[in-house]
Amino acid sequence: MDTKNSSQMITHDLIIIGAGLAGSWAALAAARDGAKNVAVLSKLHPLRSHSGAAQGGIAAALNNVRPADKDPRGPLEPIPETDEPIDSWELHMYDTVKGSDWLGDHDAIEIMVRDAIDIMYEFEHLGCVFSRLPDGRIAQRRFGGHSTPRANYAADWTGHVLLHTMHEQCLRYGVNFYSEWYALDLIVEDNVCRGIVALEILTGRIVTMRAKAVMFATGGYGRAFKITSNCTANTGDGLGMAYRAGVPLMDMEFVQFHPTGLYRHGILMSEACRGEGGYLLNNKGERFMSNYAPDKMELAPRDLVSRSEQKEIQEGRGVGPDGEGIHLDLRHLGEEKIKKVLPQVREIAIDFLGLDPITDLIPIQPTAHYGMGGIPTDVDGRVLANADGDIITGLYAAGECSCVSTHGANRLGSNSLLEASVFGRRAGKAIAQFLQNGAELAPLPGDPAGRTQQHLQRWLDNEGPELVEEIVVELQATMTNKCGVFRDGKRLLEAQQKISELQQRLKTARVMDKSSRFNTDLLAALEAEHLLNFSAVIVACAINRTESRGAHSRLDFPQRDDEQWLKHTVAHLTESGEPVLSYKTVNIDWERYPPEQRKY
Ligand SMILES: Cc1cc2nc3c(=O)[nH]c(=O)nc-3n(C[C@H](O)[C@H](O)[C@H](O)COP(=O)(O)OP(=O)(O)OC[C@H]3O[C@@H](n4cnc5c(N)ncnc54)[C@H](O)[C@@H]3O)c2cc1C
Repeated sequence: MDTKNSSQMITHDLIIIGAGLAGSWAALAAARDGAKNVAVLSKLHPLRSHSGAAQGGIAAALNNVRPADKDPRGPLEPIPETDEPIDSWELHMYDTVKGSDWLGDHDAIEIMVRDAIDIMYEFEHLGCVFSRLPDGRIAQRRFGGHSTPRANYAADWTGHVLLHTMHEQCLRYGVNFYSEWYALDLIVEDNVCRGIVALEILTGRIVTMRAKAVMFATGGYGRAFKITSNCTANTGDGLGMAYRAGVPLMDMEFVQFHPTGLYRHGILMSEACRGEGGYLLNNKGERFMSNYAPDKMELAPRDLVSRSEQKEIQEGRGVGPDGEGIHLDLRHLGEEKIKKVLPQVREIAIDFLGLDPITDLIPIQPTAHYGMGGIPTDVDGRVLANADGDIITGLYAAGECSCVSTHGANRLGSNSLLEASVFGRRAGKAIAQFLQNGAELAPLPGDPAGRTQQHLQRWLDNEGPELVEEIVVELQATMTNKCGVFRDGKRLLEAQQKISELQQRLKTARVMDKSSRFNTDLLAALEAEHLLNFSAVIVACAINRTESRGAHSRLDFPQRDDEQWLKHTVAHLTESGEPVLSYKTVNIDWERYPPEQRKY
């Protein structure tokens, strides 16, 4: 690889890293509001972004359907336009606040659920092909933790449909796409963002990219876990880059485990399976959720369902050769419905397990799915420099890599496509305003690309005994086994020790490919650094939080403790390489949504 040439420079007004829903919404909104020179960088082809894998739906209180015969779990029917609505943004807000175990910020949640209705109609006007009711309105289904059916969908291809529509619109507005370009480093000095260093994957060319504004929309980080629903690209590069550049990470201890990952693979069987009426069964054939959430049953929120499954497994009622699975039963939904509304789910079960949900029980297990934490922002996507709320000028973030925080300690299904869209759009508008207000290019400190090149060169020169991949496999096993659905102080400390050992070993690990063109081996090494760095933050935050809240469930501290812990964790990197933690107040509307016990 030629790592010598650092003289190349590209300049844009706005550079967005990530072409998923958050990034493409921001690009479109900024371009529509007059931003001229907008670029989006993506390490994947933009349409391969993980947003496109989303299956089940996007939440908004459109009031299109209701349970027929008032049976909360029975079939749905369209609401005649003359009838009273059953849903509202207020109810969506309450469900989200409760789902978050009161750790979500109420100002951000209110914006999200109010904007939800408007953004759904915008998606519709931009040409999204949603599933429809007989009268043409958008079809809706139930989702966990939502008290009404408000997940709007396109069969089980929802993310695919939304992402394709947004990408087309970005092209229409002249957004420049750098496809298969890899962001390597973020340049921030004196709390001002100055640009990034990036690599053209095809040629190995390293370039400094200057911009008046940079936005992170780099998505999720499930790949730190052995069993995950996330695509291989979800390695948390944005978190790693930001953290290394001195930007804090917030609420990283909150990782969502989705209850229905395909057994041993982790690949997602959408929550729509349960939304459409699917059952969860233990090895005795019992619908065990009646013991944990008698009211909501399978449609309790994800944290609760995953814990219930894990408990059944631990108490010997699991299925599969090692008893580590649970059965998902869709058979009673019938062939016609499964083929019509869950075609992708069926295909996945057939392709990966050789089982057809029309006739077979599908073994599943909890799978690492979504990071509630991330780069802290205000409600316009401006990145916060610290727990006091100071801003880093010119740096923005939205989508799964960010933490605004609407999901608090546990996200409700279908709220994430929504969050990425709403706050992506808001960030794009805010950036257009920032540019119009006379933002300028900030001077570069030294030779950032030179520093990045040295870093890459070190990797290419390493000839240690171990391969990077072996270290990543150990990290993933550690995170799943010691920082998973249930946690305790002892295992978390073991995880912490293991991660610092792996960080040491990574320093001398080697990459096999030393070439310039499409060197994915080298990129995997950089991703391993990110995975280890933010995993260390996840574990440090989890050790400190001596309570159970949402997805963070401590066997040694089983209760929620509002007196001590009703606060966000903010982590900074220190010179020693260890995270230092501080805490930030949660924005709570004490009158309308005061903390309550969370029961389903
Ligand atoms: C299988 C699955 C199903 C889901 N189903 C639903 C659902 O039904 N409803 C729901 O609300 N949510 C769902 N989610 C969650 C939701 O899809 C994601 O949280 C959301 O789409 C994230 O969008 P994003 O724009 O933040 O990131 P992504 O869509 O993940 O995009 C990330 C982008 O960043 C780019 N990138 C990352 N690192 C770099 C780098 N170093 N250099 C350059 N580019 C980089 C990638 O190329 C990509 O373009 C699902 C998630 C999964 C995994």
